[in-house]
Amino acid sequence: MNRTQSLRQDVRDQDGRRRDGRGAAAPRPRPGADRDSAYWWEAVGEGRFLVQYCADCRTPRFPAREVCAVCLSLEWEWREGTGTGTVDGWTVTRRTFHPAFEAPYTVLRVALDDGPALYCWGRLVGADPGDLRRGQPVEAVFTDTGPAPGAGAPTGGGAFTKVVDWRPRE
Ligand SMILES: [Zn+2]
Repeated sequence: MNRTQSLRQDVRDQDGRRRDGRGAAAPRPRPGADRDSAYWWEAVGEGRFLVQYCADCRTPRFPAREVCAVCLSLEWEWREGTGTGTVDGWTVTRRTFHPAFEAPYTVLRVALDDGPALYCWGRLVGADPGDLRRGQPVEAVFTDTGPAPGAGAPTGGGAFTKVVDWRPRE
């Protein structure tokens, strides 16, 4: 069998996940935190959903950034967020672009319940995209991305292993 044939094989591991052409389960890409978001990703690793607030005018903001858009303050604080929101929009991807994300899958834009104009993006879990409606209540789910990819793996990202997905809530 040549390399092209082996890459085309649909080989699955014991959990039913597709494996890449080299026989290793495709790891889900890890989040690439930056200076402003690293603390938030640390909290996600502990199953906590934080929201950043301006320490001067108390305006919430999400995602994390250095400067308050209201008063231009460089001071901020983190508070426990609700971890809930409503569906603002979504897209269904029907083509597999990365072996860890087998199509079809749905990515939501969630309007957080913590304040106006606070949006978080994440995959839909536990529901069919055909049943989605705008304004539908959802809650954060903390998903482990699995073991670290091997050295040189083209997945990028850093040390953070958990990501936020979203599921409908009753
Ligand atoms: Zn401010």
